[in-house]
Amino acid sequence: AHLARIEAVDEKVHAFLHVDREGALAQARAVDAKRAAGEKLGPLAGVPLALKDIFTTEGVPTTVGSKILEGWIPPYDATLTKKLKAADVIILGKTNMDEFAMGSSTENSAYGPTGNPWDLTRVPGGSGGGSSASLASYQAPLAIGTDTGGSIRQPAALTGTVGVKPTYGGVSRYGMVAFSSSLDQGGPCARTVLDAALLHEAIAGHDPLDSTSIDAPVPPVVEAARNGSVAGMRVGVVKQFRGEGYQAGVVQRFDESVELLKGLGAEIVELDCPSFDLGLAAYYLIAPSECSSNLARFDAMRYGLRVGDDGTRSAEDVTALTREAGFGDEVKRRIMLGTYALSSGYYDAYYGSAQKVRTLITRDFEKAFEQVDVIVSPTTPTTAFPIGERADDPMAMYLADLCTIPTNLAGNAAMSLPCGLAPEDGLPVGLQIIAPAMKDDRLYKVGAAVE
Ligand code: GLN
Repeated sequence: AHLARIEAVDEKVHAFLHVDREGALAQARAVDAKRAAGEKLGPLAGVPLALKDIFTTEGVPTTVGSKILEGWIPPYDATLTKKLKAADVIILGKTNMDEFAMGSSTENSAYGPTGNPWDLTRVPGGSGGGSSASLASYQAPLAIGTDTGGSIRQPAALTGTVGVKPTYGGVSRYGMVAFSSSLDQGGPCARTVLDAALLHEAIAGHDPLDSTSIDAPVPPVVEAARNGSVAGMRVGVVKQFRGEGYQAGVVQRFDESVELLKGLGAEIVELDCPSFDLGLAAYYLIAPSECSSNLARFDAMRYGLRVGDDGTRSAEDVTALTREAGFGDEVKRRIMLGTYALSSGYYDAYYGSAQKVRTLITRDFEKAFEQVDVIVSPTTPTTAFPIGERADDPMAMYLADLCTIPTNLAGNAAMSLPCGLAPEDGLPVGLQIIAPAMKDDRLYKVGAAVE
């Protein structure tokens, strides 16, 4: 049924870069055979899923939305891919994304943009726009995203779906193509809080192949999602997450959510987190710096595209020609920014300062969580914007992540879930819930209560 739905609507939505029809049917038949033989089935047996094209899949193309990996077929599965298969999930295919997960609209994909199912002339958010659009257009009931600065939560908000950035280290990064290793985190996307929890539990847990993976039990997310409640909880509202640039309808729905929380028995606490105003600036030094190092591996020798290798050119020239042809504008912009910020003489002023701000943001969170159990905010300052509107204005694009970035810098957990439609444009608004590291279960407890 889901493959038929993809065939019927994805020409218009363009959520998928690759539909693995044969692979999905083979997995489904394998699940049927297991069931018939009375074998034990995985917890998500037979449930179809759309996988962001940033996770390696053995024998199935993985492009990360880039021309530089066009035609590359990974020889191995990411840990997350392995866990999905062990849970007997059916992987329908790979979803569209901003190239190397750099973007907030999916317009930076080398393979063309994805439309927002609510209004196909608008963006579905990014970088994981394909995953969230696949959910909103009923092409898949579950999807996987990655969140470096908001790429799970922001698309969830703009498409009226649920997305969770687990605690950093909660889900393995092994086989997830690296953008900014100290910020990148894979996580679940779904249409309901409980569905997200079931997927979260299936993909989380310690992995010795990822040196930053946390060796501790997975927080009880499913139990929390089944027992939604905020009675007696202290919920923080941060002063810095409102003001100029926030759409009136977004603020209205957010304020109503706060009232709802109060009505359900939560105590609302006003918080001041002054360093959050510097989050965006710090992020756009740290993420490009790490990206400039990580993307050095795309040298035309090891993977995918190779341009100009005609026997007359040096390896260095072939690398340069390949990068010129294979990387898009935003990726090049970030490699240049990051290389500059890390260069000797500038390192302390840019990268060093950004790291100090990162520490201040982490401390603001620590102080806040001495007073409250969770923090809530709008997920994004605005609803989905028209395709093309911000494409030539990186600063306007970067502002889409104003509320999501502090969480990545601090490494704690956050969810976005729908909280109604903005009255002025009828488009979905997202409510963000933020919890301390390894308290991911609180997101689900609160999310299930207000869903
Ligand atoms: N939009 C942010 C960026 O462009 C975040 C991307 C992400 O979370 N992968 O870097």
